[in-house]
Amino acid sequence: ENIAVAVGGGGGGGNGEKIVGFTCPPRRGVVSTTVARKLSMGTSHVAPDPKGKVSGGCAATGGGGGVDGAVTTESEGVTVKVRHVGSRILVFVRVRPLSKKEKEAGSRSCVRIVNQKEVYLTEFANENDYLRLKRLRGRHFTFDASFPDSSSQFEVYSTSTSELVEAVLQGRNGSVFCYGATGAGKTFTMLGTAENPGVMVLAIKDLFYKVRQRSCDGSHVVHLSYLEVYNETVRDLLSPGRPLVLREDKQGIMAAGLTQYRAYSTDEVMVLLQQGNRNRTTEPTRVNETSSRSHAILQVMVEYRVKDESNNVTNRVGKLSLIDLAGSERALATDQRTLRSLEGANINKSLLALSSCINALVEGKKHVPYRNSKLTQLLKDSLGGSCNTVMIANISPSNLSFGETQNTLHWADRAKEIRTKAYEAN
Ligand code: ADP
Ligand code: MG
Repeated sequence: ENIAVAVGGGGGGGNGEKIVGFTCPPRRGVVSTTVARKLSMGTSHVAPDPKGKVSGGCAATGGGGGVDGAVTTESEGVTVKVRHVGSRILVFVRVRPLSKKEKEAGSRSCVRIVNQKEVYLTEFANENDYLRLKRLRGRHFTFDASFPDSSSQFEVYSTSTSELVEAVLQGRNGSVFCYGATGAGKTFTMLGTAENPGVMVLAIKDLFYKVRQRSCDGSHVVHLSYLEVYNETVRDLLSPGRPLVLREDKQGIMAAGLTQYRAYSTDEVMVLLQQGNRNRTTEPTRVNETSSRSHAILQVMVEYRVKDESNNVTNRVGKLSLIDLAGSERALATDQRTLRSLEGANINKSLLALSSCINALVEGKKHVPYRNSKLTQLLKDSLGGSCNTVMIANISPSNLSFGETQNTLHWADRAKEIRTKAYEAN
């Protein structure tokens, strides 16, 4: 398999530890990851040119190889500092292009990205008229990075998630979730298409590439699980059967009986993902409801052995969770009163619970109601736990989706305040 996400100076076996059975030359550096483009934190964000090439950096092309196409790069990578030091959730926003349907309906863009980080939202935005836009009652939000509609899948992956892949290889936990209304681009960002693979696929390619660089003898073992939360029922997407029960043990929440597949290559993972997606719940009468109400969680576990200075061997496991959330429309209210009034209604309980948890975490409450839903139980570690967490908020640029976009940006803005204990715990 043919992967060229450029990586250099990565952190295998830092801190005086040795990966057991390491037969290739150890690599230098601990917290620097080199990815194939300049990342935006502290460096300039590089806009892609129309051919999909990233100027001054490199390009991610689909490689023409569909799902199995290589992530190719065009130059030596650049070194990027790990940004999770403040152990805060990193929040990114991605605007998708206006759809044909939206254009036909005469909708205009109500979103503008400025300086790669700021999102201006106005109901009457004219993309080319910045001054006019400022005069109008536009709202302004700042995120760790904001991706305009021209951003490639690779840009989104490398800026938001590649660092977590690196951390997982050092035994840390990471999670990435896509949040937004139905049709805003969550599944496109997470899963992508055959020509344009998304974060799940690029992360796995990158992971196997890095695993091969670190352990020539296969001392890193990769397992995966793929599960779904639908109407408060947890299902194993790789081995469909009876609903799974959630249990809490010392290591955290786990779904009892969930299959863990040992994976050896990206191709194999692709087959498993496709198989899992076919097993996602379908509601025959309301096809659109399917994707909008089910949460899909891909868990990738990387296990390896390390030897410390006194030659004691210990097992380490890093877990990466990649989450495609259900559509946030109708489910999330921006104020507590509406939130409460919605509680009895037939809406997505898990997303309501997610908003309550975010509120509790942001307000520093002692009690965070993780137990209110299956999703929040499963995400406990990602929200305020020992995990590096990334939220990608997906929005449509269309003024017809103004309300939903405003809602999504509100929650994304709020999520920025959540702290995790990722580095304290490790
Ligand atoms: P969601 O999962 O949030 O409901 P989807 O990911 O299914 O939304 O996206 C809705 C539609 O928009 C799909 O047809 C998808 O291919 C398209 N789309 C979403 N994001 C992008 C993007 N960044 N570039 C091109 N097409 C996109
Ligand atoms: Mg979807």
